[in-house]
Amino acid sequence: MDKQQEFVLRTLEERDIRFVRLWFTDVLGYLKSVEIAPAELEGALAEGIGFDGSAIEGFARVHEADMLARPDPSTFQVLPWRGEHPLTARMFCDLVMPDGTPAAADSRWVLRSALARAADAGFTFYTHPEIEFFLLREPPKRGGPVPPPVDESGYFDLTPNDISHDFRQQAISMLERLGISVEFSHHEVAPGQQEIDLRYADALTIADNIMTFRQVVREVALRQGIYATFMPKPFGNQAGSGMHTHLSLFEGDRNAFHDPTDDYQLSKVAKAFIAGLLAHAAEITAVTNQWVNSYKRLIGDQRVGEVLEAPAYVCWGHNNRSALVRVPLYKLHKSNATRVEFRLPDSACNPYLTFALVLAAGLRGVQGGYELPPASADDVWTLTDTQRRERGITALPGSLAEAVKVMEHSALVRETLGDELFDFFLRNKRAEWLEYRRQVTPFEIDRYLPVL
Ligand code: GLU
Ligand code: MG
Ligand code: MG
Repeated sequence: MDKQQEFVLRTLEERDIRFVRLWFTDVLGYLKSVEIAPAELEGALAEGIGFDGSAIEGFARVHEADMLARPDPSTFQVLPWRGEHPLTARMFCDLVMPDGTPAAADSRWVLRSALARAADAGFTFYTHPEIEFFLLREPPKRGGPVPPPVDESGYFDLTPNDISHDFRQQAISMLERLGISVEFSHHEVAPGQQEIDLRYADALTIADNIMTFRQVVREVALRQGIYATFMPKPFGNQAGSGMHTHLSLFEGDRNAFHDPTDDYQLSKVAKAFIAGLLAHAAEITAVTNQWVNSYKRLIGDQRVGEVLEAPAYVCWGHNNRSALVRVPLYKLHKSNATRVEFRLPDSACNPYLTFALVLAAGLRGVQGGYELPPASADDVWTLTDTQRRERGITALPGSLAEAVKVMEHSALVRETLGDELFDFFLRNKRAEWLEYRRQVTPFEIDRYLPVL
């Protein structure tokens, strides 16, 4: 038994913790949990806890349903919202087959493997997400209207008697009690929309933290009698909820993206990494933006009447909010803060798979010596199609169906996810698209029935 395992067992006894929740994430990014008694934990740490994987979407074919959840003791935390007596703790798990090999459907393993490949090349991958979400006055009812947002405020607003502000403070306190540091929080552009930015850490820790974050935000909302949603685009005429993610590679203590001699202080590694992100963005979009609804956020075209700050085209720039990859300039004096902001993912992605693919795309750029195209200073949303074509700017997939078609042919995505998860994901998404296509929407009824 190692030191961390001993620490967990000792803490259980000392603090009289009665329940331990083992958490893991399914392929589509839903958090799953099984609760065990403290007496079971020693065995769970040594061998894992068996469960029937076929019960969980994406986890197993029927004939290989038995799986083990093996808790990662470094993720042990007491859950603050469960109260003081009796105490409940949680740990994230890795999933293994009965023979001890990693389970193909374990997205945490997919990320671990991607990180190991980066480590072979000498790099550690750090991320920091800006997580956006909406607060609504009440939980939605199936088939009912979207409940109204909790306020009518906008970007950085602070009003007296502010539900959103109190909500953010409570959520942040709870996150901090769980060991998750928050860098920044504010009201976002749309009514009821919030943003909370987590302090950067290695990508595996951040992926775990995002899963915890969603749980905390939902719990705090519930306690306040309101409802939190990470749905990418709940309101057609308002901005959607993105999860812009800042990325950097470190070599030991040194930020490998930093070069003080470059105009923008970007190293060759950073430039090739950005080139990799741009070259492979369309292939990974089905995962970073995995729902039919995700593509309603990614409309960035003046012809729709408003610009809602989500990317729609493949380009990069410095303070260019229409770009897919933005290189923030405001922290250039700090060498370790050099990073690139990848604006594609939304708040409802599976963070493990998303980070694995983002890293794989960037690393492919670095290892393949990709050339970075010139930065785009234009607001690409306002350019015409011809102007974009002249500048070599391509469009991101416009729908889940398009994204799936691009992903199908991607060797990079197949290699990173593994054959089984890759095939499962595509099957699942094709089915989602088909179900969506079968709907006759209010838009069609309103538009066509009276005139056709
Ligand atoms: N809500 C915007 C998005 O969907 C981002 C707004 C911003 O923080 O720049 O990506
Ligand atoms: Mg934001
Ligand atoms: Mg941002």
